[in-house]
Order: sequence, then C-alpha cells, then structure tokens
Amino acid sequence: MSKPSTVVRPVRSKERFLVFGRPTIEDAEIAEVVDSLKKCWLGTGPKVARFEREFAAYAGAPHSVAMHSCTAALHLSILAAGLKPGDEVITTPLTFCATVNAILHAGATPVLADVDRKTMNLDPERVEAALTPRTRAILPVHFAGRPCDMDALTDLARRKQLVMIEDCAHAIETRYKGKQAGLFGDFGCFSFYATKNITTGEGGMVLTKDESKAAQLKMLALHGMSKDAWKRFSDDGYKHYSVVELGFKYNMMDLQAAIGLHQLPRIEQWHARRAEVWQAYDRAFASLPVERPAPPEPDTRHALHLYTLLVDEGRARLTRDEFLSAMTAHNIGVGVHYLSVPEHPFYQRTFGWKPEHFPNAMEIGRRTVSIPLSAGLSDEDVADVITAVKSVL
Ligand SMILES: *Cc1c(COP(=O)(O)O)cnc(C)c1O
Repeated sequence: MSKPSTVVRPVRSKERFLVFGRPTIEDAEIAEVVDSLKKCWLGTGPKVARFEREFAAYAGAPHSVAMHSCTAALHLSILAAGLKPGDEVITTPLTFCATVNAILHAGATPVLADVDRKTMNLDPERVEAALTPRTRAILPVHFAGRPCDMDALTDLARRKQLVMIEDCAHAIETRYKGKQAGLFGDFGCFSFYATKNITTGEGGMVLTKDESKAAQLKMLALHGMSKDAWKRFSDDGYKHYSVVELGFKYNMMDLQAAIGLHQLPRIEQWHARRAEVWQAYDRAFASLPVERPAPPEPDTRHALHLYTLLVDEGRARLTRDEFLSAMTAHNIGVGVHYLSVPEHPFYQRTFGWKPEHFPNAMEIGRRTVSIPLSAGLSDEDVADVITAVKSVL
C-alpha cells in the first residue's frame, strides 16, 4: 500500500474497527459445535451428510459433496471431469488465485479470457477467441455474485463439447433466468470460507447432476478409498476399506458442518439484509466520483457478495491505494477483489502473462475497493461506512 493515511478525526474508534467480511455466528452454531465436541464426533460424519442434503435441497441439486474448501472442490471437479495434462481450461483473470491454482493442481493448463468491463464477468466472445484445439473446459466465476452470461457460455460449451465447471464461491443465492448458479454445467463449486455469504470456517461443496461423478468426488476427497469409507468409524464393527484411486485429504469435518447447518436457514434473510445495505450505498454514492456496481441484468438474481467501488483517480484526486489507507485510518476494513491474476509474479514467470493482455481485468483490479457488506452490519455501521467514504472522496 502507498503512504500511510492520517485522517483528522476517524469515523470510528480503533476499538470499534469494522472488520471486512465478518461472519455472523449465533448461539445455534455454538451449541451445535459443542454438541459435536461432547459426542466426540469431530470428523466427517452424520452432520456433514445432513449439511450436504440440506444445501442440495436449498439449491435444488440432485447431488452434493462437501469438501474442506472451494479450492479442493474445484481441484477435484477438474479431475473428475477427466482432464489430462495439456488440456486447456478457460477462466477469468478477475478472480482469486485459487481458481487458477486448482486448474494447475489438476495438471491442466489455465488460459485466461478478459472480462466484460461492466459486469466484470467472463466475456463469452473473448472466451470463444481463446479456444484452441486443446480447450476442454470453461471455468466461469460468478463475480461478486452476479451471474455470468450463462446462455452464451452454455451454448458455447454445447457447441464445442466443453466441460463447464462454475466457481460459485460468491454465488450461493445467484440465479440466472430462474435457474440456480452451479447447475448450468457439470460441476458447481461453492465456498464456506469465513468471509463468504455463509460459512463453516473453512469449507466447500460441489453440486452435480451426475450420480457417478458425485461418488467419484467423494472417493477422491477421502484418500481414494472406496465408497462411504467413513462408515468404518461407526458402531457396526470393523470394516475393511479399499484404496481404489490416488485420492486427497479434502473431506469436511462434522465440526465445520455443525456451523453450516445453522447458517443455511438464514441464507435468504441475510441476502435481504445485504440488499438493504446495497441500496443504501447506491443512494449515498450516486453523486461521488466513483463508479458503483452495474445494476443486475434483467431476469437474474445477484447474490450481493461484494459491493465494489471503482476509484476514478482523476476526478477523486486520490489513488485507489490512498482510498484503502484512508478507509483503514477511519477504522473501516476494506478489501480488493481482485488484482488481476497476471499481476502476480508466479503467473508472469510461469506463463508469461502480462496484466496489459487483459486490459479490462487489469483496470478493474487497479481501481477497485470492496467495502463491508456483511448481513451482520447494523444501521450505524452502514452509516459509518457511508460517512467515511464521503469524507475520503
Ligand atoms: C474464496 C474463493 C475461492 C476459494 O474458496 P476457499 O473455500 O477459500 O477455498 C475460490 N474462488 C473464488 C472466486 C473465491 O472468492
């Protein structure tokens, strides 16, 4: 970050620092974790199975497999899709590094296509331009919770016989023309990391329509051991297990699911609260020298995971990094989602990517600031964020 910022009078005191992406944990979560602890069933067990069923019911998905992260979910989905070394996966440069890393861990080759400047999502025309004879999959990210152009992307996947894996880390509540995100392609991968719309601490989930793929994912997530290996910990006596593939240690724990079980019923109520906060921000910032998120596209539902402002350095007479420092000096937590993937040295070194190759993602990544949007924000918190943004700009 650039020079440290001093503000004359911080909007909030240091003791009341407003944490960015703070989860809401209530008594029910705490009691459920204590219940697991008292029963001494900490690892994968009945609560994970129930969390899988209840999440699938929320999403209207036929099959669901819980994992310990969305990164694990993406990695195993790419493996379960049968991709081989040399196979190319097209994804967005405006995402968390985990999206690209999962492709690499699965042994495939990531190929970036730039985003649409307004929606910040993969531009289907640029995806089409990035196709090669080795393209095997598309991995769209529903950025900030706004659905990608799924008509165009699913049409492209069908025409070119490509696997589609959706990164739904921001997109639990996302719908496109009435359909739940995560169910358009072959696999939908969700995150329950602490800052996401619901949390299990660390956690992830794959939704799929294919029963055999779900079984394969489950097997790969637990050492490659044959189906339902966790039952060997039950009271029915010792059971032999067979290792049938080279798997991973990616299973979710009951301790994690215990938290998630009580977050699930609050998804809609929390989404409604974030919509209120979103509208308050939209009203308050309309006349400031910043670009607000574009309105949602017709017949879609935005999951409202991130509220992003694009700082206009010329008009605001302030750089993005100065904006970040000033908000922090007001004791309000902020985030950057994201510096584009090609800004990072590892990818530059490994693939020769340059930010300039993906100008929309580069520009957004260098100008964007995410301000707090948790459902747990009080009206006073929201007023403080608004006061701070107005005073900084
Ligand atoms: C958070 C996030 C991930 C990774 O999720 P984890 O559960 O932390 O592994 C992947 N993709 C995007 C877009 C994310 O925001």
